Amino acid sequence: MADRIQMKTPLVEMDGDEMTRIIWKMIKDILITPYVELKTEYYDLGLKHRDETNDQVTIDSANATKKYGVAVKCATITPNADRVKEYSLKQMWKSPNGTIRAILDGTVFRTPIIVKGITPYIPTWTKPITIARHAYGDVYKNTEMRVYAGDIAELKVTQPDGTVKTQLIHEFKSNGIIQGMHNIDRSIASFARSCFNFALDAGKDIWFASKDTISKIYDHRFKDIFNEIFEEEYKEKFELAGINYFYTLIDDAVARVIRSDGGYIWACKNYDGDVMSDMIATAFGSLAMMTSVLVSPEGVYEYEAAHGTVQRHYYKYLSGEKTSTNSVATLFAWTGALRKRGELDGLDDLMEFADKLEKATIETIESGVMTGDLAAISTLENKKTVDTETFLREVNARLEKSV
Ligand code: NAP
Ligand code: MG
Repeated sequence: MADRIQMKTPLVEMDGDEMTRIIWKMIKDILITPYVELKTEYYDLGLKHRDETNDQVTIDSANATKKYGVAVKCATITPNADRVKEYSLKQMWKSPNGTIRAILDGTVFRTPIIVKGITPYIPTWTKPITIARHAYGDVYKNTEMRVYAGDIAELKVTQPDGTVKTQLIHEFKSNGIIQGMHNIDRSIASFARSCFNFALDAGKDIWFASKDTISKIYDHRFKDIFNEIFEEEYKEKFELAGINYFYTLIDDAVARVIRSDGGYIWACKNYDGDVMSDMIATAFGSLAMMTSVLVSPEGVYEYEAAHGTVQRHYYKYLSGEKTSTNSVATLFAWTGALRKRGELDGLDDLMEFADKLEKATIETIESGVMTGDLAAISTLENKKTVDTETFLREVNARLEKSV
């Protein structure tokens, strides 16, 4: 243990719930602390502790992330009525991810982990496609109404000096519906900067798409903000890095994505990102192989898995059964955070360790040792299904040889 890798700045560690909380500890015990003298500032975002602190712990953890720059987060329960009963909660606390995202003003980037034996439904996709979804406004903060024959719907804006601007939406000859939605320049600009920073970081091209030919003011504003920020702040950096930014129509983007071999970042408006991220995740095979990182416009990073707390497996675990829950996305949240910490602190050995741990994980799966969810879709011939802990020990056996 004497020559474990040293860290400078602590990682913000956000512990979570259910099966992923069990996996969290296993990953640290089996694969990290034997090699790294782990420095973390620990926040327990488990539902019980969120309730005890009136959710202050979630806010504190987000503020710590702003302070230190890198966090790793375990999946957490977003309470619903059932959870309020199950945990005798004081109230139905908000989604921790929503709270953290609001404080960091970040964008979420989701990228699949590709392994041999698990073929995407689009077989030409040999490289991962990262989806970036704008997480504010549009239809997610809308106002809508049913309207009736004879109604006249107008868009009305009252300016600070009292001047009123109105525009006709529609004169209804028969019953119908209307919807009002908005976005904010500042939020779109944060989204654009997060996207460009992430592209530079990953060394990958980035595409942004909307429907500005139809939505000549609303969607066009997105396009303009992306272009202005790119031209003023990022163009030269992109040239130096040898990567590209381009804007295209959402329909053209969809066609290009399907024809592509992957390897780029696809930035989407809120609704497009909601829909397209499910398509990308499904097409690549498994939610348990999707990594997720929240990036703020100032360059603060929070790494996590894209899946939830795997409740069904947790109840099996509680009844004493060994589960075959996939730990890969949670493990890659740790390696992502350690690598980023190493990069920011100039610790090459920490970055190398993260690379080796990821490599050992992929080698394990490609050698045929995997959890049940992957065994069900893998085309490898000599595959063997193992439980969660055995998988991590198999990874360690390979890691030990490389460090
Ligand atoms: P989930 O935890 O993602 O699991 C849904 C199903 O997907 C599981 O039952 C399992 O299928 C499969 N699955 C997901 N991850 C897996 C893994 N790592 N290994 C193997 N199989 C995996 O979603 P949920 O059950 O709808 O949600 C449970 C809790 O998670 C909820 O309280 C929700 O609020 C929370 N949640 C948190 C986050 C987050 O913190 N980022 C995200 C989403 C949901 P089988 O049962 O068929 O094996
Ligand atoms: Mg969705």
